[in-house]
Amino acid sequence: MNSFKFNYDLEFASPEVISEHQSELLAEHIRYLHDHSYFYRQKFRQAGLGRDSFFRLDELGHFPLTSKAELGEYTNDFLCVSQSEIVDFCLTSGTTGRPVALMQTRSDLERLGYNEELSFDSTGINSNDRVLIAAAIDRCFMAGLAYFLGLIRIGAAVIRAGSSSLPVLQDLVQTYEPTAVVGVPTLMLDLGRRLEKAGVNPARMGVRRLVCIGEPVREQNFSLSPLGQKLEDLWGGHLFGTYASTEMATTFCECGEHRGGHLHPDLIITEILDDQGLPVKPGNPGEVVVTPLRIKGMPLLRFRTGDIAIMHYEPCLCGRNSPRLGPVLGRKSQLLKMKGTTIFPNTIFSALDELPQVESYYLEVRSRFALSDEIRVVAGVRDRDLSPLMVAESIASRTRIKPEVVLKDPETVRNKTVVQGRRKPVVFFDYRVNPDE
Ligand SMILES: [Zn+2]
Repeated sequence: MNSFKFNYDLEFASPEVISEHQSELLAEHIRYLHDHSYFYRQKFRQAGLGRDSFFRLDELGHFPLTSKAELGEYTNDFLCVSQSEIVDFCLTSGTTGRPVALMQTRSDLERLGYNEELSFDSTGINSNDRVLIAAAIDRCFMAGLAYFLGLIRIGAAVIRAGSSSLPVLQDLVQTYEPTAVVGVPTLMLDLGRRLEKAGVNPARMGVRRLVCIGEPVREQNFSLSPLGQKLEDLWGGHLFGTYASTEMATTFCECGEHRGGHLHPDLIITEILDDQGLPVKPGNPGEVVVTPLRIKGMPLLRFRTGDIAIMHYEPCLCGRNSPRLGPVLGRKSQLLKMKGTTIFPNTIFSALDELPQVESYYLEVRSRFALSDEIRVVAGVRDRDLSPLMVAESIASRTRIKPEVVLKDPETVRNKTVVQGRRKPVVFFDYRVNPDE
């Protein structure tokens, strides 16, 4: 198998050069799928497409989309290599449905490391940094492994702390004084608060960068979200949002301009599609559909992530000409309907993050009737001066919907939201009869 080729300058090339290069890589990708993937060969045949049916980027829309359900049901039909070429198993998070094993070759891991190298490089992390990874590398998680591979390519010193124990994280932060931390925002918030309780000011610890995974820390206009603001105030470092999933095996990470996550043009092609599967007008939100390029083990074509976001195409002040993905608005399947308004749970979470008395929360949704959901917010507060009505009104002022609010003590709420084996708290419980998938 050919070794992986790196192209560090492509993000800085002109949009025309980027698009020409992506066209070539995509043609190669489609030929590879046709020759090695049983799943796609069948799909192409059904659609009347051959191995050389692709010529230009705008013809990608002729090719079939791939759903999470298909990947789960026909997993082995996606495998393009023999058993002897597989070196690692990465399990998808299983947030929706059961986890799927994505099998990686050596070249796929090189690609994964290169992807994170590009991402960390855009945040300004370099070989002088000590970086604490507060994400799991075990249990077949891809994220922790990817960060590790990327950081050793950069030459930074890595502190592999994992995400399972706050006392372990506290000890490692105090002992080894990292200059950057990679982790889920709510976990970094809990860690910072724990340090404060121990009499240590996190803002004085010298952590200059926080790379935030799994939860958005910015609004659509790129200003910090209430959660992001809390984190930045607490740690005193710069926040960098990053978005990825196991299936896409590619990261969209912010640069120092903090205006969305840069797409790595030689690693992924991204479309933003509407409910009919057609491209939205530039600047509009739609489903993020990805074609990760140059994957050998289990490559995908036009994979529907279920996440809704906006793509920004103007060149960035950092000098990169690759498009940028805005903060994820939410999952398509989680869209809430109430009194003729539709909103994503994240909007309600942002409103709750603005209330300093609210320490933890979750949201439950049930079917009321066809066009409206019943939304119940359970908030963990210690301060009993705050009433459910005050919380509901605060949510209404931000979202124009007024859900039912129940107050409990923060520990009771955490007992429900902190789930063993999950990377981040589970704060959304969907009991609707037929949530759209
Ligand atoms: Zn930039």
